Amino acid sequence: MNFEIKNLSVDADFDGKRYNILNDINIKLSEGKTISLVGESGSGKTTLVLSVLMLLNKNLRITSGSIVFNDKNIVDMSDDELRDLRGKDISIVFQEPLTALNPVIDIETQMTEVLTHHHIALENEAKRRAAEMIESVNIPRSKIKLYPHNFSGGQRQRILIAMSLITNPKILIADEPTTALDVITQIEILNLIKKFKEEKNLSVILITHNLAVVSAYSDYVYVMYLGEIMEAGRTINIIKNPKHPYTKALLESIVKIEKTERLKSIKGTTPSIFEIKDGCRFMTRCDYATEKCSNKPPVKQTEDGYYRCWNL
Ligand code: SF4
Repeated sequence: MNFEIKNLSVDADFDGKRYNILNDINIKLSEGKTISLVGESGSGKTTLVLSVLMLLNKNLRITSGSIVFNDKNIVDMSDDELRDLRGKDISIVFQEPLTALNPVIDIETQMTEVLTHHHIALENEAKRRAAEMIESVNIPRSKIKLYPHNFSGGQRQRILIAMSLITNPKILIADEPTTALDVITQIEILNLIKKFKEEKNLSVILITHNLAVVSAYSDYVYVMYLGEIMEAGRTINIIKNPKHPYTKALLESIVKIEKTERLKSIKGTTPSIFEIKDGCRFMTRCDYATEKCSNKPPVKQTEDGYYRCWNL
């Protein structure tokens, strides 16, 4: 398996004007590894994921770059190839399972349809695999004919994970998979994803705003802010020795929580895409900003990654 996003940019059209919402994104994912995309709401994480699956809204378009999966550029794929790719080679688990599951269809039917839709198995074989998968996420197979509302939030998320993995995809995208869940259930879900990653040599893209989750579950981290990657590196180095002011600020907020001190939040709020100016996108909230930050910051290399900044 190989997967690489190179120099990807996405623009949005609103009221006859064009705005850049993803700029020069570069990401690499290796087989059996987990990468995290971390950042606050509005950082472009979900737009990036929707680009990977070519599911962008009509007013958004990829203006440059490539998304290569197993030597094929997803950006150039036909509709048939994309249908095959989605759910079969690259699966996604969204944060709210109730909206991802059909409330009026039982779980067995929803799971078997994934296999029959992709022509992976006929009905009887599909049912057998659905029962195996539901057991593998610790739900008794006797419950497979029940409906989504018969399960708790955590169980529904486990069902979605089972459904996402029933086709044996190469990549699982987990988009804030635990946001709506309590802390214990969050850990259960993340451990389940980790178990499958190890058992199936699955590659995982974990989307989160939570650096504590990143540090426990990922190998490599991309810190995103307002549509750009501010810093990238191996998880241990990002956590222990962050370079970019935004990464430092994100980390300070979780360190304070662990010390049960008052949470230090990052000053200000993320501007909207309509307010993006030339220069460093983090400038309006950065404690280290100087005049030259109104010019595009240089990309500085680190031992195993890079960051964009003038002053650090
Ligand atoms: S380039 Fe300037 S504004 Fe941007 S992160 Fe670095 S110091 Fe802050």
